[in-house]
Amino acid sequence: MHPLDLDFRFDQLPPEGRAFRGEVAEEVVAENVAGLLGELGYRSSGALTVEGTAWPARRDVVVHATFRVALGFDCVRCLTARELVVERTVQHVLVREVATATPGDDGLEVTDADDEADEYTFDGERVALGEVFREDLLLELPMNPTCETAGAGVCEAAPQAAEATVDLRWTPLMALKAKLEDPDS
Ligand SMILES: [Zn+2]
Repeated sequence: MHPLDLDFRFDQLPPEGRAFRGEVAEEVVAENVAGLLGELGYRSSGALTVEGTAWPARRDVVVHATFRVALGFDCVRCLTARELVVERTVQHVLVREVATATPGDDGLEVTDADDEADEYTFDGERVALGEVFREDLLLELPMNPTCETAGAGVCEAAPQAAEATVDLRWTPLMALKAKLEDPDS
């Protein structure tokens, strides 16, 4: 069976599940990661790609998927431009939103779907997974990415002794200072 896109209808899912494949466009990734680290930020360098399987589970949807995206950033210690490849396998349950009871119905109590803040939902017909993986990505990004985050070892430029005693809260200022002292780095 042809894999579904990231946006599909609940009735397109057979009981045994169905593969899906798609991407979150680079522009969307860029928009979401740009402001995360203030001045430094992450830079998108491509779309976020996803591959997985979705199953109907009674009235809900279970999603198992692996997503991958490459992001550029400047090390918060030495400002060297680095690349971070985020690749994660995740599983989610998208809960069917409870329909609002209209006057004349048999007094059905409407439960509040907002009770679970981190719960993903769908309207009962359309399943939109782009938003799910966009949020997954944001949760995965380190707030103080360094050369080590990118797997490039310890910063060459940063003096070890000084680094060890610096409060992490000062790193954005340190980075700014380094930038002012050496604008070419
Ligand atoms: Zn570094």
